[in-house]
Amino acid sequence: MHISRNQLSTGRSIVVLGSHYEVVRVALSDGTEGECRADSAQLCVGESIAPGRRWSVLRHELGHAVWFESGCRAALRFAGYSDEQADALEEAVMEIFIPAYVDTLERAGWLLVPVIA
Ligand SMILES: [Zn+2]
Repeated sequence: MHISRNQLSTGRSIVVLGSHYEVVRVALSDGTEGECRADSAQLCVGESIAPGRRWSVLRHELGHAVWFESGCRAALRFAGYSDEQADALEEAVMEIFIPAYVDTLERAGWLLVPVIA
């Protein structure tokens, strides 16, 4: 079974390592395209984001959720990273590693990218 390209829409939830995150489109301030709100389990995509860009924003915010839920953030702090170092590494993973990894899966035909309504 695979996910059709039209199945993922706002209001849908995704389970991230046992936590149910809701996908929502909201107004975000000052150029922010998305947000991962781990405390309220929301993956936010800015309401002004064009349809063709929503997936990359959601992919980025989902990466933050996995990072948080998997304990990566806590592990870096435990390993002695400062908040600034941990934040910089996390953002580099979201900006560089995750897009490259997902692109690799997509090109191999191992992942169908959803359309976010
Ligand atoms: Zn980010």
